[in-house]
Amino acid sequence: MNKEDLSFNGKLLNTPYGKPDVYGALSMPVYNSVAYEFDTAEEMEAAFTGKSADHAYSRITNPTVQYFENRIQTITGALSVTALNSGMAAISNTIITLAKTGSNIVTSKHLFGNTYSFFASTMAAFGVETRFCDLTNSDEVEARIDKDTCAVFLEIMTNPQLEVVDLKALSTICKQKEVPLVADTTIIPFCSFNAKDFGINIEIVSSTKYISGGATSLGGLILDYGNFNWLLTPKLHTMTEKFGTIAFTTKLRKEIHRNLGAYMTPQVAYMQILGLETLTLRYEKATDTCFKLVERLDKLSEVESINYTGLCSNKYYELSKSQFGDRPGAMFTFNLASREACFEFMNKLKVVRRATNLFDNKTLAIHPASTIFGTFTPEVRKEMNVSDKTIRISVGLESVEDLYADFVQALLKA
Ligand SMILES: *Cc1c(COP(=O)(O)O)cnc(C)c1O
Repeated sequence: MNKEDLSFNGKLLNTPYGKPDVYGALSMPVYNSVAYEFDTAEEMEAAFTGKSADHAYSRITNPTVQYFENRIQTITGALSVTALNSGMAAISNTIITLAKTGSNIVTSKHLFGNTYSFFASTMAAFGVETRFCDLTNSDEVEARIDKDTCAVFLEIMTNPQLEVVDLKALSTICKQKEVPLVADTTIIPFCSFNAKDFGINIEIVSSTKYISGGATSLGGLILDYGNFNWLLTPKLHTMTEKFGTIAFTTKLRKEIHRNLGAYMTPQVAYMQILGLETLTLRYEKATDTCFKLVERLDKLSEVESINYTGLCSNKYYELSKSQFGDRPGAMFTFNLASREACFEFMNKLKVVRRATNLFDNKTLAIHPASTIFGTFTPEVRKEMNVSDKTIRISVGLESVEDLYADFVQALLKA
């Protein structure tokens, strides 16, 4: 059988090691070594100058981390994959590779809290402007892009608004305007969504979520699909003349990521390699439960409204189905009558845990307005469409019955 024809899990589980393991270890060993020894000065020179791919120092590359990267590359078809120690490190490393003083980023206000703050505060201090707009409005996006735009950035399903942008329409605009499309796809895992099919150029994932396999560790991934002409990005112009398609990855790997020092550690890579092996299984179970739970909760009068793009009545149902298939994630939100009702519900939960994070094996509940967005001003929360009446649920692996019973007892007045 041809390796290319294998299924998602087949490819994943059969990704070869970079070198055969001397003991024939079936589980990728954790190479807990900072440095690597060379036989000769010539080999050392070759490794340091990029003429060989040998490992030299674990801030730059590490065999265990590289194996994790290779697995991701095998299942996605990306040109290159870089693993970092958090989703935020993946976002910041990507943006710093593309932006320089005077550039701008076109994005939406519907962003993960730290991403918003990274754009609005951290990058602003270095003279990089962020243009917040409605990414579902093509005319507005087109109008905001200009010659200094270094990226259009989006989350494929925003959190907690659950807004879905037409990716093909957006990538067509980016192509016409010659700007790379950078997408944070954390919310839908690789087994349900292929970024390349929708014209995304750089994909970013917080592997802390679905991939880690039970919230074991923080991690982030940068995937370069090799489908953007980097000659069009002023900061990468010289790099592209020398390296061609691989210019973004070269700038990232040979300069930015080693200077910022946020490479994934081998222990984390080991845990996430294992997590990846059960990704499809966990995702199928969690999304099945999510769907059943949402359908049942939708019928309760205490629930004012429920937001899940898998519901036929959802505004984004068709678009979500066309982009993410039948499994649009294991997260939903619902509104109760007031902030007080939300707090009362949260406090009564017995099975569902009060915690942040997404796609743990345990089901988690959070009131976003008072926590993730709790230090933002009411005006900013309003602009971001984060309501005081919303609860966010990340569905885990418990049974639907246990979860539903807990919701009911927490919702109904004693
Ligand atoms: C969690 C999350 C991040 C940040 O990831 P960390 O691994 O916590 O740094 C970024 N984007 C989205 C959509 C997330 O859910």
